[in-house]
Amino acid sequence: MEVLIHLCHHKLHTLLPRALSRACRRSHHCTPQPSPSIHTPSKPVMPTPLVSRLFQPSNLREGQEAGDMTCRSQRLMLQAGLIHLSNPGCFYYLPVALRSMEKLVRLIDEEMQAIGGQKVDMPALCGAELWKRSGRWELMGKEMFRLQDRHNVDYCLGPTHEEAVTELLASQSTLSYKQLPLLLYQVTRKFRDEQKPKFGLLRGREFYMKDMYSFDVSEEAALHTYHSVCHSYRRILDRLCLKWVQVQADTGNIGGTLSHEFHLPADIGEDRLLMCGNCDFSANVETVALGQTDCPQCHTGTLTESKGIEVGHTFYLGTKYSKVFNATFTNAQNKLSVSEMGCFGLGVTRILAASIEVLSSEDSIRWPGLIAPYQVCVLPPKKGSKTNEATHMAEKLVESLENNLPNLKGEVVLDDRTQLTIGKRLKDTNRLGYPYVVVVGQKAMEEHPVFEVLCQKSGETIFLSTDGLLDLLGGVETI
Ligand SMILES: [Zn+2]
Repeated sequence: MEVLIHLCHHKLHTLLPRALSRACRRSHHCTPQPSPSIHTPSKPVMPTPLVSRLFQPSNLREGQEAGDMTCRSQRLMLQAGLIHLSNPGCFYYLPVALRSMEKLVRLIDEEMQAIGGQKVDMPALCGAELWKRSGRWELMGKEMFRLQDRHNVDYCLGPTHEEAVTELLASQSTLSYKQLPLLLYQVTRKFRDEQKPKFGLLRGREFYMKDMYSFDVSEEAALHTYHSVCHSYRRILDRLCLKWVQVQADTGNIGGTLSHEFHLPADIGEDRLLMCGNCDFSANVETVALGQTDCPQCHTGTLTESKGIEVGHTFYLGTKYSKVFNATFTNAQNKLSVSEMGCFGLGVTRILAASIEVLSSEDSIRWPGLIAPYQVCVLPPKKGSKTNEATHMAEKLVESLENNLPNLKGEVVLDDRTQLTIGKRLKDTNRLGYPYVVVVGQKAMEEHPVFEVLCQKSGETIFLSTDGLLDLLGGVETI
């Protein structure tokens, strides 16, 4: 629902030139109402998000702070009104968090499509029959949510989609080698019956993942695809300015012969990683013999252990699934050949929470700049204070930013809670972590207006003219 509202608002905003949309509003107000006593005219469309109107309920109750919060990102996200707990391991994603998530999905879409990925959407409700054919109906054990329909037919809520996508390809009898490589991906809710959901969005029972599946003509081609997806994962994490490590990984219940994990180093991480001080060897501890301390690659370096939050996992599958489901294509010799597969996961909600976990301080959220929910917050002075006229300046400034800087369309918020002091509101903006906060005070009333700008990333406060502000904010990358 929130997505729809947001999209409609955005569309209207971009499609209608400002003057035209104003004219529409005026004419609407002038239309004679048949019965004014019972008809309440609808409010005009609000082009700038106002802090007083954002649905951002703080879900952290008094006394909860010290006790049962399990990690920083969970506490900060509840406190800032980004998420709300429903069942254990399941959360409402509230409007501000959803804006950030939609940006992250746009970034992922860009990078997946840059390497030829095509977006699909597969059913979350998966028939047991496919899982029995691959042998994973038993193998997945209690981690899988299982259910039955009214005809007593078994289903599961999809934790991953190797079976489904391979069956989809197997049903295409005319697939030619000329159509390969084929890279299909989706961004959907995934389900896992975690025994102990914890750490908020980091280990939930329902979460968003991007999963991609590749089909190639040969092992060589499949490995080429594998490395290009790994490269795109590194690009995504780099564009988010996150520190990451790529390590050799165990193939677990997915299978295959080559696998890597992508981690954000963090003490709260549940994975133990080993790194060589002498060469580039790095691996999940699961892949190394118990107690091994010397590097298996260079044989001279020593392995040191650290912890990481897993945000991505890649697998070269070979023909493990394509053989079972008979996913074939017609090769250059006009013969049927089994396709070579890979599968690639990125935790969408996991990246969101993990980046907050590693970037934030104890009481203030810090976002990767590109996916901050809003880039700029403008603060007019407190109502009734000497600088009251500056309120008008603040509104004009927001309009000017929106009109002159296409990158900031929909990215500027006005903190209209002018009953509160600047100091109180600054505390809130710092807590939510807007990358830029513009304070419109006394100096904005001078002949050449000057604005106080707090840059979150550098921690600096600078004073800029209108032109200087447009220059600074015009360079902000948005998605
Ligand atoms: Zn080494």
